[in-house]
Amino acid sequence: MAHHDDTTAVHGGRPEAHPDGPVNPPISLSSTLHAGGPYGYGREYNDTLAALEKLLGDLEGGEATVFASGMAAANAVFDMFSPGDVVVASRYSYGGVIARLTELDARGAIKLRTVDVTEPDEIAATALGASWVWVESPTNPMLEVCDLRAAAQVAHAHGARLVVDNTFMTPLRQKPLSHGADFVVHSVTKALAGHSDLLMGAVITADHHMKEAILGRRLLLGAVPSAFDAYLAIRGMRTLHVRLDRAEHNAMIIAERLAAHPAVSAVHYPGLPGHKNAGVHKDQALGPGTVLAFEVAAGAAAAQRVTESVRLMTFATSLGGVETLIERRRRWAGENPLVPEALIRLSLGIENVEDLWADLQQALST
Ligand SMILES: *Cc1c(COP(=O)(O)O)cnc(C)c1O
Repeated sequence: MAHHDDTTAVHGGRPEAHPDGPVNPPISLSSTLHAGGPYGYGREYNDTLAALEKLLGDLEGGEATVFASGMAAANAVFDMFSPGDVVVASRYSYGGVIARLTELDARGAIKLRTVDVTEPDEIAATALGASWVWVESPTNPMLEVCDLRAAAQVAHAHGARLVVDNTFMTPLRQKPLSHGADFVVHSVTKALAGHSDLLMGAVITADHHMKEAILGRRLLLGAVPSAFDAYLAIRGMRTLHVRLDRAEHNAMIIAERLAAHPAVSAVHYPGLPGHKNAGVHKDQALGPGTVLAFEVAAGAAAAQRVTESVRLMTFATSLGGVETLIERRRRWAGENPLVPEALIRLSLGIENVEDLWADLQQALST
């Protein structure tokens, strides 16, 4: 019987019950497997990885393959590109993803076209002749929303495959495969694992042949996560629903208060009624998520000072952990120049929201 997602988060991927058997999957430290099975070696199969893959696959509605990082997962999909493939990607995508696609384009391996994913017509026009469409929704770090059903429709109309990086939402908030996506990519590093203590990625697909192809990428490219990290990721995912509820509650309150703050010129968060595609987001996702971005009216230097003046929040990159993280994205030389200089990305943790607001208020007043 299929359960609700929060129940699956708690019970998915557990070993079969037998008297005195463990309730948790073991940390299986073996590169070598007894002969005679379908796999045969630790790059293809590991008990702990399999438990995590079962849990993740059940939540996303497909079959999961885990990788040593989110970038390794993305590169496993890139490795399925054929020479000369046209790849359409959102103009705001995770920095490493855009950097890698740009690199592949520069060496002539693919042709990259970037698009504004908030405009289905623009995706449709750009997808002509494309083999792959790669989107995030909401995008990093602008929190733009892509209509995933529309994107799947135009991609498939052109014979292209749709890949959705679902890191910001997690399967508890959005299920891209159910909206027509062919692949879901995750940085498990973020909210799924949730404790800022490991790097991991995943690719999930509902097509068994594609799952085998992705597993083949792990076998040959070799970016296998450790069993210990897989154990930690499972442990983190047991509380995913509880962490998301609290962090999203915090994000909504902080977004509303920032929107009314005189030092803030813009807030980007799909939970706010003024957001460009708030309606689309509500249609395809169960909540606005735990990450928001805002712009400091006084400019880049002032924004940088805000991130360096927090006392409770952590000035650091990354997102999805139990602790609130804050950073000005353009402090990175490699950040997309389209991102405003004074934009701060905030990843809400599960602290008390009044403590977070007090901290942000004092930082904004400096
Ligand atoms: C962090 C991140 C990645 C890359 O994942 P790593 O685990 O850091 O390699 C990809 N996409 C998004 C949206 C991310 O936030």
